[in-house]
Amino acid sequence: MERDLEKVKQRLEELRREIEYHNYRYYVLDDPEISDERYDALMRELLKLESQYPSLVTPDSPSQRVGGRPREGFATVRHRVPMLSLSNAFGEEELRDFDRRVRTLLGGEKVEYVAELKIDGLAVSLRYENGLLVTGATRGDGETGEDITANLKTVRAVPLRLRREVPLLEVRGEAYMPKEAFLRLNEAREEAGEPLFANPRNAAAGSLRQLDPAVTASRQLSFFAYGIGESEGFAARTHAETLTALRELGIPVNRHWQLLPHIEEVIAYCRHWQEKRHELPYAIDGIVVKVNSLEQQARLGATMKSPRWAIAYKFPAEQARTRVKEIILRVGRTGVLTPTAILEPVRLAGTTVTKATLHNEDFIREKDIRIGDTVIVQKAGDIIPEVVAVDVKSRTGRETPFVMPRHCPACGAEAVRPPGEAATRCTNIACPARLREGLIHFASRNAMDIAGLGQAVVGQLVAAGLVKDPADLYYLRFDQLVGLERLGPKSAQNLLAAIEKSKSNPLHRLIFALGIRHVGERAARILAAHFGSLERLSRATYEELVALPEIGPKIAASVTGFFAQEENRRVLDKLVAAGVNTREVQEEEKEKPLAGKVFVLTGTLERFTRKEAEEIIVRLGGRVSSSVSRHTDYVVVGANPGSKYEKALSLGVPIIREDEFIKLIGQ
Ligand code: NAD
Repeated sequence: MERDLEKVKQRLEELRREIEYHNYRYYVLDDPEISDERYDALMRELLKLESQYPSLVTPDSPSQRVGGRPREGFATVRHRVPMLSLSNAFGEEELRDFDRRVRTLLGGEKVEYVAELKIDGLAVSLRYENGLLVTGATRGDGETGEDITANLKTVRAVPLRLRREVPLLEVRGEAYMPKEAFLRLNEAREEAGEPLFANPRNAAAGSLRQLDPAVTASRQLSFFAYGIGESEGFAARTHAETLTALRELGIPVNRHWQLLPHIEEVIAYCRHWQEKRHELPYAIDGIVVKVNSLEQQARLGATMKSPRWAIAYKFPAEQARTRVKEIILRVGRTGVLTPTAILEPVRLAGTTVTKATLHNEDFIREKDIRIGDTVIVQKAGDIIPEVVAVDVKSRTGRETPFVMPRHCPACGAEAVRPPGEAATRCTNIACPARLREGLIHFASRNAMDIAGLGQAVVGQLVAAGLVKDPADLYYLRFDQLVGLERLGPKSAQNLLAAIEKSKSNPLHRLIFALGIRHVGERAARILAAHFGSLERLSRATYEELVALPEIGPKIAASVTGFFAQEENRRVLDKLVAAGVNTREVQEEEKEKPLAGKVFVLTGTLERFTRKEAEEIIVRLGGRVSSSVSRHTDYVVVGANPGSKYEKALSLGVPIIREDEFIKLIGQ
């Protein structure tokens, strides 16, 4: 018995240390090492042991504490009403247990529940005083969070002013990254050789906890409120009333919530969303169930870590078994050879999956993935398919291990893996696959923004030998384009017009478009602002570059290396000769601050009629569209907005109110 207790103590100690470590990676670094399922299993083991041996529970156990510590560099904010976590239910029976517990604690009273989507983001608190946003904070350890006000203000869904003045209101909700934005962010990071975010929650947290709000602003975050903290002059008797009142104050509340009088209906609701969750434009990882009456909530109270009146039903991770038919290599624009598993098509989490990235040689070796293997796949953060394990037992002996080739599959040039790096690269800068990827990047929306220059057209231009570097785009002629497959006279004309238009882009777009390694959008802006012209940037020394804020040795070396190459200089000369702008400030842009921006108007504005607002936008170079899409730059929201507002929220399109619009147009 003595010995047993010692063993239990030891295991508890181990579990606590391990969980602490993973909490640190997840909450402080936003970079988890293990899956949530694995983490939840550790936590459940800890909880189970602690409930069997209550005398061994320590106050510093992760079972007693919320989240992680604030990150250095931020001021801290004290939450006067603690921001708690939620206890979890992993299955329908655990929901019924929760319902029984609640009703017993309330002496058998009737209980109603509100069921809401559990958005996979991070909890934030927004403090409004007299209707104005004064502080925005993370949850942190529940009592102290990080002050991220400046960053939260860049999130368009967060109102800076409430529609009615309430003396004090602390709004609590989830800041999140829509699926589309998460996918694009990871794609860009993979190209730039930066580490990927494991899921939208970590991507949102990493984006909000940036010391530079401009980075947050570029990440397309959004927000849904689900409750309140401290308040004065805000009256509600039920949670449902709270949600309705928040919405009336102009705060986005997810419209998928329901008041349900019985736990079986809650369970049906959970089942429904387990099926349908893939149709949403943002990731959800479960359903949150809350007791509706605030008076009952108060009587139920909370433990150190979570309220007794709420529970999070967690969806099981969906996995599927399939076979690796083949492992192919994709050549990226920096020459990286990325192995991809071609899978026997399989239905998984709402889509048919046919391939999964295998990242690099080491990943394949660690998991020992062979061609012909039966594998288990799941979607990281519910979005990106990945191979989680090999079913070794079903091997037949006919599987073949993967060997990283020594030559580029696209051009046959030597492929090398420098010591200390995970990636293998094609060494040929003129490799057609690299050229294709490089051109697609050059023309992409955040780079030179050349509409109509997608994968198919680029492929043909390269195959026909019409384009050998990005500068060649500016020398294309109509007669060359109409000769291409499926490119009619009209499309050819449009493409030429888009190429022509891109000539007047500001310098930072051009720098980003050139695809210099490690130079992302942010670095491109810093370089353009500092040097002002491509000419000056090309002469910058390593010392000058590293002296700039945020430009480290890696970027500096990459930039000088880029301009030192004769081949690159030749391309730049060709760009200049074609008339591509190489300066940062464009006179025309100064006069037309909304050039190229697409606006959608919804609701009634106070200072302008709809017509007047439209005229101003057009005068300043913008365009007004009647429907919201991913290409919309701003949705201007007035009083009583319509469904366009909802659409904008769900797509994560920037939303601005009239006062911000007025600022934007400089009136
Ligand atoms: P949680 O995510 O399980 O639940 C609480 C959170 O849910 C709230 O703080 C809030 O942010 C969010 N939420 C979303 N919609 C909500 C709604 N409608 N109403 C109320 N809250 C809503 O708890 P947690 O403490 O943030 O995180 C614990 C979880 O994080 C674990 O279960 C695990 O999955 C994951 N985790 C993983 C690792 C890892 O290493 N992989 C490490 C630590 C934590």
